[in-house]
Amino acid sequence: MKILVINSGSSSIKYKIFDMKGMKVLANGLIEKIGRDISRFRQRSGESGVDFTKELPIKDHTRGFSLMMEALLETSTIDHISDISAIGHRVVHGGKKFKAPVLIDNEVTATISRLIPLAPIHNPANLTGIEITMKLAPNIPQVAVFDTAFHQTMPEMAFLYALPRSLYEHYHVRRYGFHGTSHSYVSRLAASFLGIESRRLNCISMHLGNGASAAAIEKGRSIDTSMGMTPLEGLIMGTRSGDMDPAIIFYLARVTNMDIQEIDHLLNFDSGLLGICGENDMRLITKRAIEGDANARLAIDMFCHRLKKYIGAYLAILRRVDCLIFTGGIGENSPLIRQQVCSGLEHLGIFIDAERNNKSSTGITAIHKEQSQVKILVIPTDEELEIAQQTKKILQERH
Ligand code: ADP
Repeated sequence: MKILVINSGSSSIKYKIFDMKGMKVLANGLIEKIGRDISRFRQRSGESGVDFTKELPIKDHTRGFSLMMEALLETSTIDHISDISAIGHRVVHGGKKFKAPVLIDNEVTATISRLIPLAPIHNPANLTGIEITMKLAPNIPQVAVFDTAFHQTMPEMAFLYALPRSLYEHYHVRRYGFHGTSHSYVSRLAASFLGIESRRLNCISMHLGNGASAAAIEKGRSIDTSMGMTPLEGLIMGTRSGDMDPAIIFYLARVTNMDIQEIDHLLNFDSGLLGICGENDMRLITKRAIEGDANARLAIDMFCHRLKKYIGAYLAILRRVDCLIFTGGIGENSPLIRQQVCSGLEHLGIFIDAERNNKSSTGITAIHKEQSQVKILVIPTDEELEIAQQTKKILQERH
């Protein structure tokens, strides 16, 4: 069974095709700078496949998806479009309507479209991908997998903001949370690694990439998460501020010339690590910090301090925690951040093992000391594989 996974962005298309037997990646591709004079199209194939990078004008997503299909055929990844059993689409915002992946029909696309005000950049791009592939491959079942769905198990006391209730009822203002596909994937792997049933696992999952979020998972279900109505809330991220006093916005509007759009841009694109030290790539920040740069050091300290506060909060609401999970580009690759986040938490039963933490390895790695009550795991995330697996599940439920 071959499943194609698509992540359609505003000017890019990412795709991966899996042979579900053995979960093998047959090919993965990236089409970037769609609509610019010169776009870039790269595809890598598994094992005996053909890799290529092309620069050519790709005027819109329709052209991009046609090129993707042509490339899959030309590289013999598939012999015919009908070789693809299903297509799984990443959709950022599923609102409160979608609590799980769904088979896409007209009603589903209409609902994703109605949710655009909640995710004005992402949902339209995701929807474009769905609409084009439905035209290109009308007979192949298509499934939407939502970043927000995993967090739909949060109780009201965690997802509501302390605002007049009418704002929730009329304008859907509430916490939704994101990175759900990743939190769900790594927490399931953690359960299996620890030999615990998923539905019994209590853990704190930390997805630390350019965007970053933590989730409190009780009995395999998300009960709270740091991102909110939008991905701006919570941890310090590459370019997003995360938590701050909302009154800063009113203050800035009063004392600077910035309008609402400019402040929105400032908090989403010019803040976080970039705002603190002028750099958002954790590798470069780490290098600068080691060389003695005070601002880079401060960025790391602030990043870890914020994350530690969330660990404390989630330990309090979960009571029993089987493990902490580090994932995402920073979580998987930065021993320095993991060490700093976990140090000083010994009184809470968290003991990181410096040697295990510093040893580079692939796959799931335990980095706690033997006596650690709370295990500490590094788990590489694979959101595309999770989307493929969820898509397969929907397909099987259909038969
Ligand atoms: P995205 O959220 O865009 O998918 P990733 O999960 O790839 O991003 O994470 C990107 C972040 O991971 C960047 O800040 C990058 O610097 C960081 N990162 C990747 N490798 C390392 C490393 N070896 N050490 C520290 N940080 C790293």
